[in-house]
Amino acid sequence: MSVDEKLIRAAVDCAEVPALLPAVAQLTNDETLLREDLRPDPDRLLEPDAGLTPEQLDTARDLAFEALRDHLAAGAPAGEVDPDRLRRLLTFVVGDDAVVGEYLPLFREELCAAGEDPRAPGWHKDEVAPDTSFRVAIVGAGMSGLLAAYRCRQAGLDVVVIDKNPDVGGTWLENSYPGCRVDVPNHFYSYSFVQHDWPQYFSTQPVLLDYFRRCAEQFGVLDDIRFSTEVTEAVYDEDRERWSLSLRTDEGEETLEAHAVISAVGQLNRPSFPDIPGRDRFEGPAFHSAEWDHGVTLEGARVAVIGTGASAVQLIPHVAERAERLLVFQRTPNWFVPTPEYQQDIPEALRWLQRHVPAYASWYRFWLFWRNTEGMLAATEIDEGWDDPRSTGVINDVLRELLTAHLHNEFVEAPDLLDDVVPTYPPSAKRVIRDDGTWARTLQRDDVDLLTDDIAEITPRGVRTADGTEHEVDVIVYGTGFQASRFLTPMRVVGRDGVDLHEHWDGDARAYLGINVPGFPNLFCLYGPNTNIVINGSIIYFSECSVSYVMECLRLLLEQGHRSMDVRPEVHDEYNDWIDRGNEQRVWSVPGVNSWYKNATGRSAQNWPFSLLEYWKQTRRPRPRDYELR
Ligand code: NAP
Repeated sequence: MSVDEKLIRAAVDCAEVPALLPAVAQLTNDETLLREDLRPDPDRLLEPDAGLTPEQLDTARDLAFEALRDHLAAGAPAGEVDPDRLRRLLTFVVGDDAVVGEYLPLFREELCAAGEDPRAPGWHKDEVAPDTSFRVAIVGAGMSGLLAAYRCRQAGLDVVVIDKNPDVGGTWLENSYPGCRVDVPNHFYSYSFVQHDWPQYFSTQPVLLDYFRRCAEQFGVLDDIRFSTEVTEAVYDEDRERWSLSLRTDEGEETLEAHAVISAVGQLNRPSFPDIPGRDRFEGPAFHSAEWDHGVTLEGARVAVIGTGASAVQLIPHVAERAERLLVFQRTPNWFVPTPEYQQDIPEALRWLQRHVPAYASWYRFWLFWRNTEGMLAATEIDEGWDDPRSTGVINDVLRELLTAHLHNEFVEAPDLLDDVVPTYPPSAKRVIRDDGTWARTLQRDDVDLLTDDIAEITPRGVRTADGTEHEVDVIVYGTGFQASRFLTPMRVVGRDGVDLHEHWDGDARAYLGINVPGFPNLFCLYGPNTNIVINGSIIYFSECSVSYVMECLRLLLEQGHRSMDVRPEVHDEYNDWIDRGNEQRVWSVPGVNSWYKNATGRSAQNWPFSLLEYWKQTRRPRPRDYELR
């Protein structure tokens, strides 16, 4: 077979070496590629190419090129990945066989090295309870809901998905503001078992939406979804051990019964508007980032953007391109992590490699997973006795210095802006945002003003700041975030003894594993309390773990002939004490820093404070003794 050597050369030249060598070794069965002197340095994972020198990189690429060329020319079959080989390949990337031993089952699930789906439920209703009727209602057809629906289908369950929107995608459907894109590397921000030919390292919203639409189709769940239907209420009937859901549709109200309810409504989907006086008096168009009004022309307009969080930072450069003048109202500056490839397309040669060497896509995903996740957690620790308010510990301070240097570098030609753009709080106390230089370039435009005075009121013609100045604008955009701590709102949820979930939580949501709440049998939450990941991972990872756990819960119910399961209060409370102690050791708990990571009580009801491995271990399967089973 003739092979295009130029193409192979171009592909290996732009591949990540720590992923390239195991991928080619897997494909060709040639483990001599895994040379000790070409191994990524486990202590330098966050450096470019994990600390490999240009000479090492050249050698690695040459070896991979030759092996790949010969393999393709011979038309040889792809190598098998038996468990021993898998472990050797993993040890090459991770650098420590003991660590691989600890993570091995998780790695297998994440890697899907042979294109399989290890997290698929290992049971089917026809085998465990063929004569029991059991319906699962899933609220939400976003990333988590689609996954849950697919797993239920794989297990042969009767499933119905209800979504208020007319299409799948959840947050990726609703957020259509200009510049919207994912800020977790796409190969990792995707289902482990559905890899994709991503056009960008961090794809834009239309690409993400398209991915979830394709997944819904591939999962065969589209016919199970009731679109444009909102669940207004879910009430548990204790005698019948069923949930009754009130639905609001275009045609009117109706009810639906289910034996179990999976809430997949997300955390960041109910817009939050600031409590600024006069908001209703503004006479021009005003809208939220998540409810972008595409009918409003920004060309030639004077625009105010209020807020500078992750959403606003993405949309502001695009608004600046169109508006005649842009006023950016910033209350708190962000830390930015330099990410040169943030808005870059994936080179065609690399996409060729992913298509022709599917193992590369798996190993690249694994490499991102390993490099960007567990190692990052140390930078969020609060060291005992640390008394510099700008950081929380030795490693956090190293991060602060790196990110400060980045900002100084970015604003070298506008030093007068530095006081306004360099945060005084520790990095990762709020979301750290990705940047390829666009932010500094935008703020330095002549037609953009950064305003840091408090906003006193919204007037009919614009925004008045605390110094009394009225800033006249034609359009106001609220990039003011979401009601993240109000889990499951505005849905009313009533459990045993008529207890209302929101009254029970009283603004301070808690759940066991982020999934179960005592007194609410057979209710399972996805992306529930304390399952947000701050710095070290992708929320899809959490959803996959949570859904696997929920599927094991349903198996437990069906296999053992129970009708309901309710987590024991003492199990739930002990777990939450553990979570709170964990969060108290993390930078996002420091007092005096405002963020959606905390609820009104100041407690982090959002974030997971431990490693990814820990959540995986916790959610492997339910312990029957943790539940009251009926
Ligand atoms: P956010 O991070 O909560 O940011 C809200 C912004 O509005 C902050 O700058 C906040 O200032 C400001 N604000 C709120 N009330 C204000 C007031 N009364 N006056 C002035 N400013 C006010 O919301 P977000 O930007 O929508 O992002 C939320 C989360 O969504 C992110 O952290 C991320 O997890 C996710 N997200 C992800 C992506 C992505 O993947 N690319 C993109 C967008 C969002 P303070 O900081 O002072 O409170």
